[in-house]
Amino acid sequence: MKAAVLREYDAPLAIEDVPEPTPPEHGVVVDVEACGVCRSDWHAWKGHGEWADDAVERGQVLGHEPAGRVAAVGERVTEWAVGDRVAVPFSLGDGTCEHCVTGHGNRCSDGYALGFEAAVPGAFAERVAVPHADYNLAALPDALSARDAAALGCRYATAFNGLVERASVGPGDRVAVHGCGGVGLSAVQIAAARGATVVAVDVHEEPLALAADLGAAELVDASGDGGPASTAAAVRELTDGGAHVSVDALGRAETCRNSVRSLRRGGTHVQIGLTTDAEAGEVALPTDAMTRNELDWVGARGLSPTDYPALLRFVAGAAVDPGALVTREVSLEAVPARLAAMDDYETAGVEVVTEF
Ligand SMILES: [Zn+2]
Ligand SMILES: [Zn+2]
Repeated sequence: MKAAVLREYDAPLAIEDVPEPTPPEHGVVVDVEACGVCRSDWHAWKGHGEWADDAVERGQVLGHEPAGRVAAVGERVTEWAVGDRVAVPFSLGDGTCEHCVTGHGNRCSDGYALGFEAAVPGAFAERVAVPHADYNLAALPDALSARDAAALGCRYATAFNGLVERASVGPGDRVAVHGCGGVGLSAVQIAAARGATVVAVDVHEEPLALAADLGAAELVDASGDGGPASTAAAVRELTDGGAHVSVDALGRAETCRNSVRSLRRGGTHVQIGLTTDAEAGEVALPTDAMTRNELDWVGARGLSPTDYPALLRFVAGAAVDPGALVTREVSLEAVPARLAAMDDYETAGVEVVTEF
């Protein structure tokens, strides 16, 4: 079958013929109908993460935001049958550790990151194997297309985890979102649908316009001369003293600190973006102010498979349209070029592979 393979960092992904996957006894093989193209793929392709010994190995099939149909089932799988429509979380649990059984499979101590490690080749491919399928897979409602379901993972799912599960955003909250790429725009839509008033921050016009379309009440263009202090001050002014919840949806030192400085007393910063080579995984923070103002700082990575039903209920119940985030449908062959386009932040919204 065809797949997009990381052969060398920062060189175009290779479109290759690779062996067909077979289902592990506790897993399934999914026919991929759609798979989102994500900044996490870009980080992997660039070889980021070496400072944490976390760089993705050469030879990896990338792609971690698939939806499709079950094509083959392992002998110990009880919940799924050939033909079932499914969404596949990228943070896959083993279903048995203390984190999995308490509803935090995204923190699994023996988990898998689909498309980022050799044990779980990714979904920039015609088919993908999914381990521990009974624990990990989510059934797609008829109303949700594979394309729109692909737009849910991992960005939408991570934003849902950060805002809803970790920060309990609700009606009346003021929410700031720093960085309006895919995960930031997802955060804007989710927060607005939860009844919060959203301030969206970015340095480019197009993402800000998309944020407004998705429900942001106020926009801050952070590209001006005023620097970080003025960005945070603008957010605090627009939120009547600071945001209850502020999200760093990009993962740069500046967006992280801007987000923390955007908070009102007692507020919660949600870190979603992972850092780049420049930060190497560490960002200096205003800890005295965080202490005096009793700020919370929480991280969010993916969404537990056990929380996918809640996410799908939210999408149906709040009548939000994750498909509205999709700005482009592309073929598998186009993935190398679409990743390269992320170098200069030329992409906006969510791009989805729909042709394999
Ligand atoms: Zn586990
Ligand atoms: Zn992703």
